[in-house]
Amino acid sequence: MQRTIFEIEHNLFRDAFSAFLKKEVLPHQDDWEAAGMVSREVWRKAGEMGFLLPWADEQYGGSALKDFRYEQIMAEELAKINEAGFMLPLHSALCAPYIAEYGNAEQKARWLPGIIKGETILAVAMTEPSAGSDLAGMRTTAVDKGDHYVLNGSKVFISNGLLADLVIVAAKTDPANKHAMGLFLVERGMEGFERGKNLEKLGMKSQDTAELFFNEVKVPKENLLGDATAGFYYLMNMLAQERLTNACGAVAGAEAALQVTIDYVRERKAFDRPISHFQNTRFKLAEMRTQIDVAQVFVDRCVTDHNEKKLSPEVAAEAKLFTTELLGKVVDEGVQLHGGWGYMWEYPICKMYANARIQRIFAGTSEIMKEIISRGMQL
Ligand SMILES: Cc1cc2nc3c(=O)[nH]c(=O)nc-3n(C[C@H](O)[C@H](O)[C@H](O)COP(=O)(O)OP(=O)(O)OC[C@H]3O[C@@H](n4cnc5c(N)ncnc54)[C@H](O)[C@@H]3O)c2cc1C
Repeated sequence: MQRTIFEIEHNLFRDAFSAFLKKEVLPHQDDWEAAGMVSREVWRKAGEMGFLLPWADEQYGGSALKDFRYEQIMAEELAKINEAGFMLPLHSALCAPYIAEYGNAEQKARWLPGIIKGETILAVAMTEPSAGSDLAGMRTTAVDKGDHYVLNGSKVFISNGLLADLVIVAAKTDPANKHAMGLFLVERGMEGFERGKNLEKLGMKSQDTAELFFNEVKVPKENLLGDATAGFYYLMNMLAQERLTNACGAVAGAEAALQVTIDYVRERKAFDRPISHFQNTRFKLAEMRTQIDVAQVFVDRCVTDHNEKKLSPEVAAEAKLFTTELLGKVVDEGVQLHGGWGYMWEYPICKMYANARIQRIFAGTSEIMKEIISRGMQL
């Protein structure tokens, strides 16, 4: 189905970003998978090309492109090539906005230029070993000591956990109020800030996902973002954009999985005919085609609403729920239609299947999305 959301400038941006991926990402995917992380170099190159935080103000080195379609395009192109390790959207559309939105002038001037250049890689650390969906249940604390806070606790499953130079860490600031938490900018090299090993995962093999430990880390007050008790609300505010970003990538990933499956079923023969001629194959593919088209229209509309600051957390949750469940279904059917070859890593559908599984879990599970949506229904 023809999409109507993009203008010429977006198409040019897509071409440029896609060319960047072909040159700087595709040739390295196997090496990054083996290493368990991407290179620092790719971040710097993305920065040089203006692909990190294109929305940021020019005074910090951004391009002031305050239009979420640019982030949408990058999430889509990365999903198309199934690159799950180079988490540019996490850096550009998820983490940096906390600093732009809640940071003061000094913090923005100090951090944004390096973040835009790809010299300062970002991560956000909310999840803990015993608290993921229930963020208010986190145990990491930050105690006010006058001119600094002392941070104690640990985080788990943190994307960019090893490469990150600056981590936005959520920590409780008032034992009497479980929702009182602050967001602290913890820097590489701060005493007492340690990282665990690269966690071994089902998919996303080129992504460094790690545990982080904070043992009496002295964080200067200048590294606190906004109000020390409002971090929970900051997280809730920003999660809508995070979920929309996931949705953009999920539809593009589903489209890519459909395309590789179509290519395969046209070639593969069984019982003297291409398997694309079996009614079951055609019906499965027709269902996927329909659902992806419907999902794309919905997501594009969400992006338009988001640009107009009209996207509610409930609708962002609907977008994430529907598209990530759809992605899960498409990659699963895709593997099925590939038969045994679909289970082999050398076939793209295999990696797509492995990479897709997390989409229904991180940035809020499908069950949590349903909670959010149903809360908005006054049931
Ligand atoms: C590869 C990877 C990357 C990640 N990256 C990051 C990151 O960069 N930063 C970060 O902070 N976190 C990150 N996460 C953490 C991720 O967001 C959490 O894993 C996720 O939110 C779920 O939390 P949990 O794992 O504690 O599961 P739990 O909260 O323990 O959930 C277990 C099950 O219980 C269900 N459940 C929980 N509460 C309810 C409820 N109220 N109603 C119904 N069902 C419920 C869940 O839906 C799920 O099915 C990442 C995780 C992974 C695996």
